Amino acid sequence: MKIGLYPGSFDPITLGHLDIIERGSKMFDKLYVGVASNMRKTYLFSDEERLQMVKEECKKYPNVEVILCSGLTVNEAKRVGASAILRGLRAMMDFEYELQMATANKMLDDDVETLFMMTNPHYSYLSSSVVKEIIKDNGDISKFVTPNVIEMLKKKYF
Ligand code: ADP
Repeated sequence: MKIGLYPGSFDPITLGHLDIIERGSKMFDKLYVGVASNMRKTYLFSDEERLQMVKEECKKYPNVEVILCSGLTVNEAKRVGASAILRGLRAMMDFEYELQMATANKMLDDDVETLFMMTNPHYSYLSSSVVKEIIKDNGDISKFVTPNVIEMLKKKYF
């Protein structure tokens, strides 16, 4: 059984993330989506809010399970039995960072591979930060996130 782990902050989850999850769910028998819990990072949404938000968006995929991930991603991958860490790649801006992380993870655990999936061209410049910037000024984010996420963002900002 092929098991994958797609880790991320998902603060909030965007249609770009969901596109990777949908395509990733077809590549693995089971795909875990790991919502990062990192005390050194400041998130807009709490761990619990992001966990519930991502669960809500993923409930339509029967082989996708959403979990909270703290600590090293390779350790979480091992814990759930994943042989691969799935990451999305957008423009060049992602490349340096992702290469660094993938190399570090490979050195930490040679058994866990990192797989990159190219972004859907529709979402190549979409990030959680862009969504937060637009909603702050009451802009239209309906092309970037689901209605449920729009509601959660509105509650935070207005
Ligand atoms: P992190 O803090 O771990 O980078 P993010 O939630 O920002 O968490 O991103 C999680 C993963 O999803 C990363 O691999 C990132 O490159 C990918 N990703 C984010 N937005 C998109 C998008 N629009 N298209 C494809 N992949 C994306």
